[in-house]
Amino acid sequence: QKAGLNRAILAGGWGLLVTRLEQKAPGRVEKVPAFFTSQRCSACGYTAPGNRESQAVFRCVTCGHTDNADVNAAVNIAAGRAVTARGGAALAVPVNREPQHCAPPLVGV
Ligand SMILES: [Zn+2]
Repeated sequence: QKAGLNRAILAGGWGLLVTRLEQKAPGRVEKVPAFFTSQRCSACGYTAPGNRESQAVFRCVTCGHTDNADVNAAVNIAAGRAVTARGGAALAVPVNREPQHCAPPLVGV
């Protein structure tokens, strides 16, 4: 299954992956612009290149929040808090944020 997915990505690029995901999980796939998610503080929202202490370490120059840089960026993405190049909020945050669990598979009798 994983090899199939890898082949699909190589063959069709990420656009196809998104298409497949949307087919498998209708209404549950959300594209979040990744711009500046690695420079934005997931605690206070301050966005600046200086927040990135190193490739691995995020340290907010305003509030002092410290985290693994990838974890901080992932929190921003999960919260839909990507920002535009001008620093403003890019998207309204959708309300239905909680994971939707699928119904258990039906078993034939
Ligand atoms: Zn901060």
